[in-house]
Amino acid sequence: MSTGPMPMPMPCAACKLLRRRCTTQCIFLPYFPPSESHNFEAVHRVFGASNLTKLLQKIPFDRREDAVKSMVYEAKARVMDPVYGSVGLIASLQSQVLHLHDELIAATAEATSLRVQLSQTMSLQGHATMDIQQPLHSSCDHDFSIYDIGLQEEI
Ligand SMILES: [Zn+2]
Repeated sequence: MSTGPMPMPMPCAACKLLRRRCTTQCIFLPYFPPSESHNFEAVHRVFGASNLTKLLQKIPFDRREDAVKSMVYEAKARVMDPVYGSVGLIASLQSQVLHLHDELIAATAEATSLRVQLSQTMSLQGHATMDIQQPLHSSCDHDFSIYDIGLQEEI
């Protein structure tokens, strides 16, 4: 009597699309349930099932779910944007970060200017002056260079 891997009553999304027999030892089974066929379709379209199999075999079991999630994300981004894929999303978010950083600098400068005006007005009226040297935001000196991955000139 054979003691090989048991066939699954319902194939995973990968085996269903590839029209092959799904077993309890199917490498895709834990990550592509039948209800999420669109995830495997995207990954298969962009990376190919064979490449995905080879990649998963090189990754320890406890990291495979993360690997699949990131590949699904990348594949869906590539399907939506064939030119830039997930790099397009990164560049867009990087641009937003830089824009918001510029806005923060402008808002901080305006706040400082208003504090100076307020302090001058109060001193003209004989009130105690405010300490305008106190920074409003100690967090505005973040190192944004970590977001600079050299995409801005290319995209
Ligand atoms: Zn399967």
